[in-house]
Amino acid sequence: MSDAFQLEYTPLEDIDAIHATLQKSFKAGKLKSIAARKIQILQLAYLIQDNYDAFKVAFTKDLGRPTLETAFMELDSTIGDCKIAYDRVEKWARTEKAPFSLNFAATNPVIRKEPKGVVLSISPFNYPVWLSLGPMIGALAAGNCFVLKPSELSPAVSGLIAELVPKYLDSDVVRIVLGGVAEATKLLELPWGHIHYTGSGRVARIVCAAAAKTLSPVSTELGGKSPVIIDPKCDLQTAANRIMWGKCANAGQTCVSPDYILVQKDAQDAIVQALKEAHDRFYPSGPSVPNAFGRIVNHTHFRRLKGLLDRTAGEMAFGGQTDESEKYIAPTIVKGVKGDDSLMSEELFGPILPIIPVKDVDEAIAFINARDHPLALYVFSQDAAFKAKVFDNTQSGSAIANDTMVHCAVDGLPLGGIGPSGSGYQTRKYSFDLFTHLRSSLDSPSWVDWLFGSRFPPYTAKKEAKLKSLLGVKLPPRPHEVTNGATKSLVLSDGGCSGKRIVILFVALGIAAALAQVGVVGSLWKLIVTL
Ligand code: NAD
Repeated sequence: MSDAFQLEYTPLEDIDAIHATLQKSFKAGKLKSIAARKIQILQLAYLIQDNYDAFKVAFTKDLGRPTLETAFMELDSTIGDCKIAYDRVEKWARTEKAPFSLNFAATNPVIRKEPKGVVLSISPFNYPVWLSLGPMIGALAAGNCFVLKPSELSPAVSGLIAELVPKYLDSDVVRIVLGGVAEATKLLELPWGHIHYTGSGRVARIVCAAAAKTLSPVSTELGGKSPVIIDPKCDLQTAANRIMWGKCANAGQTCVSPDYILVQKDAQDAIVQALKEAHDRFYPSGPSVPNAFGRIVNHTHFRRLKGLLDRTAGEMAFGGQTDESEKYIAPTIVKGVKGDDSLMSEELFGPILPIIPVKDVDEAIAFINARDHPLALYVFSQDAAFKAKVFDNTQSGSAIANDTMVHCAVDGLPLGGIGPSGSGYQTRKYSFDLFTHLRSSLDSPSWVDWLFGSRFPPYTAKKEAKLKSLLGVKLPPRPHEVTNGATKSLVLSDGGCSGKRIVILFVALGIAAALAQVGVVGSLWKLIVTL
């Protein structure tokens, strides 16, 4: 497995030259044309397609990943994202007109979609293709040059990417820097058009602090503890299948994997039973057999997870088997877990799922709100009011009902955290937008000074009045106070556009149309003209 595979790191002294080469290419406008961008995006898709089996092998080496998971969750989805970008980049990159405004229409205000420069992306080990090449697609589509520092913890996949990229992509516009902390630190000393970081909150703080020194803009895709709230009246079998899949795919090493379950105390055993049945359906020969279930990425993470499990005060419901030589931890459910348990002390990022019994949905919501905003929040319920109550009273990167993790694959949905779970949005069009500078532009003809010449000194009261008449804003009526028993609150006035007035307007138009039909308006008009 990964321990046997040694990556050859990029020499530190090469990093300045890599940065300089890409800066030069960017300034030379290498990816200015959409056609040039599309060539790189298509080449990236072929890089994966032509080396599909080599990637599968590399994933098995690094993560013991079942090949179906590699194909479905990384390779096919990344090829699909290339195709979407290839098909839509013209539309995404089109200059946009600003909304019409009478005052400024003559200046033709537009938003030019321009690349930010050379983008640096530092990626994690857990989805080493999707999270490395996904940002690359967005950055190239937007016309940026791109430096990727993939994870040293997934050396087989990172090594394969580093070997293939120069064969398929233009080395003047895309470079791979292999390495760990030292190489990442060196990269972060340089100024970038944008730094995109995917990984843990701990390292994100280091990345953001380094970026502040060069004023490089940063986006962060982080993780955290994504909760699941279960309404005991939900479709339990479906819920159990989807929660177990979210927990077991990639052995739980997924940023949006369910981290813990909150459920009413008296429903806990029914949930455990449903999860056990899902587990037995998924792994009829047990999860440890080859190509059934992934492995923990390295011994450090294995020991971290084992330590958390050894220290839990919860009750082992099922699972719990471990094998350090294989870096194997069985899918494990721990019930009766409390908020201060070892399993609640950090993002688990492994196949362990604690269940926290609560009194009701209000206690579940309070539990979530007392912690960092999670990257994903899951609710299993058939009751619209139950789901709305949870979503309306919490904050999270995404809010998903009756499924887990699939939202990352849905075209048109952004993937992004809030607060400690990250900032900025990823996937497809959102990745393009992330790496795009919205450059405001207008072209003001000379005659516009006939309208706005009053802005020039010498300033006079007459000019001030003229500008006010052009640009002055009429606010809606002030909110007024209403008293309801002892409570006072502010409410909006109808602002002259009440429903009643709209009805009157429609009635008036209706009467006018009817009169027009019988020729009365025409006769009146003729009479006015004659007079
Ligand atoms: P990590 O933070 O340990 O490492 C990520 C990257 O940062 C690696 O390339 C690593 O070399 C680099 N790095 C490590 N130390 C550094 C330092 N001191 N300075 C600069 N760079 C440094 O993360 P990981 O263990 O690879 O991934 C797991 C974490 O990533 C989890 O928290 C998970 O939730 C999160 N994650 C988030 C998303 C998302 O889309 N939101 C996706 C995948 C993973």
